Amino acid sequence: MPSFPLLFDLGPAKPTTRDIARTVKVGGSEALTEAERRADQARYQEITCRSALNRVEGMPFEWTLNPYRGCTHGCHYCFARRYHVQFEMNADDDFASVILVKHNVATVLAREIDRPAWTRDVVAFGTATDPYQPIEGHYKLSRQCIQVLARGRTPMGLVTKGPMVVRDIDVLQEHSRVARCTICMSVPTVDEDAWRTLEPGTAHPVQRLRAVRALVDAGINAGVLMAPIVPGFTSSRSKLERTIKTIADHGARFVGCNVMHLQDGTRDHFMKFLEREFPSMLPRFERLYAKKYPPDAYRKEVQGLVRALQDRYGLTRRGEGNDEEIAAEKVEAEQVGFAW
Ligand code: SF4
Repeated sequence: MPSFPLLFDLGPAKPTTRDIARTVKVGGSEALTEAERRADQARYQEITCRSALNRVEGMPFEWTLNPYRGCTHGCHYCFARRYHVQFEMNADDDFASVILVKHNVATVLAREIDRPAWTRDVVAFGTATDPYQPIEGHYKLSRQCIQVLARGRTPMGLVTKGPMVVRDIDVLQEHSRVARCTICMSVPTVDEDAWRTLEPGTAHPVQRLRAVRALVDAGINAGVLMAPIVPGFTSSRSKLERTIKTIADHGARFVGCNVMHLQDGTRDHFMKFLEREFPSMLPRFERLYAKKYPPDAYRKEVQGLVRALQDRYGLTRRGEGNDEEIAAEKVEAEQVGFAW
């Protein structure tokens, strides 16, 4: 990483997300003139956040934490695509190429956690964008946030597709010593074609599983979420079995799964992607996804198959995790809507 600052210095008053939404509404994302374009062609816009923790209801955790908005991993099924629309950006290219960076997130988090009223509720980290997408190598905001959570002895469950998480083994160990700490590596499949097609900006699935191995070897409670399973791409028995066997071979402490759901901007994006790249599959998806979720019978069939394979490879017990594991799993399992 270069040592010089990669973004223009906007001075002390960086725009808020509302300012960004207003700017984009008027001039499109090209109007973000302060955003720097990096080598991978994404643009990064620093913003000032007023709060770091976002309260959620009806989930097995109370708070979510996301240092970035948008994600260069660019998974076509990503449920967070639809949130970019809230900022007047589109759920297609803008989601994966215009990343908002909450440069002050760790400072704000520290302020929130230091409040005497803070009751050390579980924080679900990385619920809407990946906290270890490549730009984290430069900003280290996720690392700083974990340090703050450790100082505040606050339990957390973190979800990522980024093997970069091993960079922070030292702070994760520190966190694990004082509070419950669970890392969920998202690996929907180890099938190479499906990975390249569905998750174009992510690290190879086996690289992610090596990261799980490294975390577990370092004493950190780490497992895998096969989330989401995408009908027709990753759902065949042979692909599921190969994935679960590889997960077991890498020592994951638990595994969870869910079947893809499609909603709002994510649905529009995914259907356009199918129409462009796999037109023959479109009618079947339109039938299967007449509603947000595929029919119950289909989901139960896939989940039953995964459970049987978990049994076969000794992963079921690991899947019956503690509250944080279940909480972190539910982040993707339910793919709930988060208000930022
Ligand atoms: S890594 Fe996660 S947040 Fe990023 S695009 Fe993929 S599913 Fe979305």
